[in-house]
Amino acid sequence: MNFTDLNLIDPIAKAIQEQGYTTPTPIQEKSIPEILNGRDFLGCAQTGTGKTAAFAIPILQNLSKNKVQNKNIKALILTPTRELAIQIEENIKAYGKYLPLKELVIFGGVKQGSQETALRRGVDILVATPGRLLDFIAQGIVSLKNIEIFVLDEADRMLDMGFVHDVKRVIKLLPQRRQTLFFSATMPSEIQKLADSILNNPVKVEV
Ligand code: AMP
Repeated sequence: MNFTDLNLIDPIAKAIQEQGYTTPTPIQEKSIPEILNGRDFLGCAQTGTGKTAAFAIPILQNLSKNKVQNKNIKALILTPTRELAIQIEENIKAYGKYLPLKELVIFGGVKQGSQETALRRGVDILVATPGRLLDFIAQGIVSLKNIEIFVLDEADRMLDMGFVHDVKRVIKLLPQRRQTLFFSATMPSEIQKLADSILNNPVKVEV
């Protein structure tokens, strides 16, 4: 299979080509058509499998179908570490470079000033670590009420790092009607239970 078989819109196809990607990885081959169709998705995949593009590409395409460009947060990607968050935002920026969508990354351990300024200007796609996101929500700077797509990335590491309580608090604030994408390298029972509780008839892929 080739990226040209995936019915991607021209701005995304062009950006992917510029990244030098020609062939989708196994998880991308399965995830991209299903996520474009609006399905929930459960991916059992490690870093290095191309899982970031597996969710980032169809999210960009789904959001670019929106007629109104209002810079409300429409996609939220929760990830456990600052390094992963930065990486994901960089990928989204690269794949979305020809789209009029704004992405932002927020994480803790740094002053919130510049993140807050960027949030107030408006963001379509937010990549966040859980603690900093909850801080901004508590201050009324971030609202999750317009989220259409939610990604939980590296769910098992969220558990290992003690973030599951924070993740559950975030999930409670999301609209019921949304698309949910769930990624984890391993599926311990607590993570399986969390997946079952937030996914609606997901497509399951293990790579
Ligand atoms: P990830 O698993 O998302 O951390 O991606 C691992 C690396 O593979 C990143 O450096 C991506 O830029 C790269 N990558 C992702 N998808 C593809 C692809 N289809 N072809 C070539 N490289 C890719």
